[in-house]
Amino acid sequence: MHKRILVTGGAGFLGSHLCDRLVEAGHDVICLDNLFTSQKSNIAHLLGRPNFEFVRHDVINPFHFEVDQIYNLACPAAPGHYQYNPIKTMKTSFLGAMNCLGLAKRLRARVFHASTSEVYGDPEVHPQVESYRGCVNPIGPRACYDEGKRAAETLMFDYHRMHGVQIKVVRIFNTYGPRMHPFDGRVVSNFIRQGLAGDTISMFGDGSQTRSFCYVSDLIDGFLRMMESPAEFTGPVNLGNPNEFTIMELAQKTIAMTGGKARLGASRPLPPDDPKQRKPDITLARERLGWEPTVQLAEGLQRTIDWMKSVDLADFRAPTPNY
Ligand code: NAD
Ligand code: UDP
Repeated sequence: MHKRILVTGGAGFLGSHLCDRLVEAGHDVICLDNLFTSQKSNIAHLLGRPNFEFVRHDVINPFHFEVDQIYNLACPAAPGHYQYNPIKTMKTSFLGAMNCLGLAKRLRARVFHASTSEVYGDPEVHPQVESYRGCVNPIGPRACYDEGKRAAETLMFDYHRMHGVQIKVVRIFNTYGPRMHPFDGRVVSNFIRQGLAGDTISMFGDGSQTRSFCYVSDLIDGFLRMMESPAEFTGPVNLGNPNEFTIMELAQKTIAMTGGKARLGASRPLPPDDPKQRKPDITLARERLGWEPTVQLAEGLQRTIDWMKSVDLADFRAPTPNY
């Protein structure tokens, strides 16, 4: 059945891929975004579609649309972006979730919330299961994001318990693919950009820290399955690719795949509170959503490299000051 769907953060990396899928499926899609960390080019191809609308708005201010479903993705996600104005990040995370929930309560709409593996902090449990409560430094430079996302999860579950709002909470692990902001400072965008330019690769720490990277099409598949799953399944559920590797391995692979000219630079200090290891346990997603990633790293990296080659980097700007 065709639905009316609001996507906050819909012009961003993940949001624009989600809008693509929802528009293709024939839903009526409203994309709400203040373009803080994205640009209209991500959704330019959708602007002429009769079932797609773009609204420039900041989620910290209330909004009202008649919809059946809300996907709440609005929030800067890359460390450099969310640390740019940490107070704003916390407001976006908490007030954005509250405004979505208030609207969902009035409309009896279903809310999907994009949470993050960062709620586990620098984890002592490996791989991370949903029941693990995390190890977050509440006063460090990552806290605005981690604690903002944790508070948003709390709000989701309190609206669910108090008001019966239907919630769908996913904890997203590192995801990559076309339309990642080339200057977001995240490791995949940095390494590919540096690799293609034959520059020095910026390695933080000794490269032994691990991550598990999920290709964007797999993740969006998980989003759609979660939103359409039975109402009683609220999550939180981990979505990510359990294929774990070190950042050094990622650097070597990216160098080889981008022409082999780039070189590893002297290692820079590891940023404070940088998690040493991260890998999702996706048993719950397998069982409840019948979901698991299918795109392997080499294939996903190739598609991302091809995309980065196809864009003009001069078209991308640094995040807009947004106080
Ligand atoms: P992104 O920065 O590309 O997208 C976020 C979007 O939200 C951008 O379009 C931005 O302009 C918009 N936005 C930010 N603040 C806003 C505000 N106050 N009002 C309205 N719009 C606002 O990042 P992404 O990677 O697409 O992340 C999307 C969501 O997924 C975020 O909530 C993020 O926390 C979550 N997530 C992403 C990853 C990942 O690896 N990509 C991992 C974990 C969680
Ligand atoms: N990283 C790196 N070089 C970079 C950017 C990041 O070595 O140019 C490291 C970073 O310290 C972290 C990992 O790569 O250990 C992933 O960083 P990213 O910012 O992509 O995501 P997150 O830390 O949020 O998982």
